[in-house]
Amino acid sequence: MAPLKIDITPILNEIGENIEFDLEQSASFPEDDLDLSAPLKIKGSVMNTGQTLLLKGRVSTKIKAVCGRCLEEFSCPLEFDVEEEFSLGKMIYPEEKDAEIEEDDLLFEIDKDNTIDLLEVIRQNIITEIPIKLLCPKETKEEK
Ligand SMILES: [Zn+2]
Repeated sequence: MAPLKIDITPILNEIGENIEFDLEQSASFPEDDLDLSAPLKIKGSVMNTGQTLLLKGRVSTKIKAVCGRCLEEFSCPLEFDVEEEFSLGKMIYPEEKDAEIEEDDLLFEIDKDNTIDLLEVIRQNIITEIPIKLLCPKETKEEK
């Protein structure tokens, strides 16, 4: 599985610049017990704000789900916005690694090869977006 990566070299030292992307890739997250029944799609942009790289995008995919009522497997569409920040700290001041830079837990890190890994961002967001109780389309139709 190739990672969903964006090379951010062109904007790394250009405050205010952004890169737009429109990516699609199949993926699965076995460690989270999460299987996708459609490719991951993400469209958006990443911008150098001077403080961080701000990633904004819209993700859509389908997850393989088991209905909480009839226990049948079904494909559950998932579509949501993501907004995450990547720390610029380490890239700008690599030699001051343990000096004054505070590592915010909420920030993702830029990889050593000047890329950002969207897959991990998407993975974390999918987990929070999945409804607690998954019901197949059949059940939700009956409820209405
Ligand atoms: Zn059901």
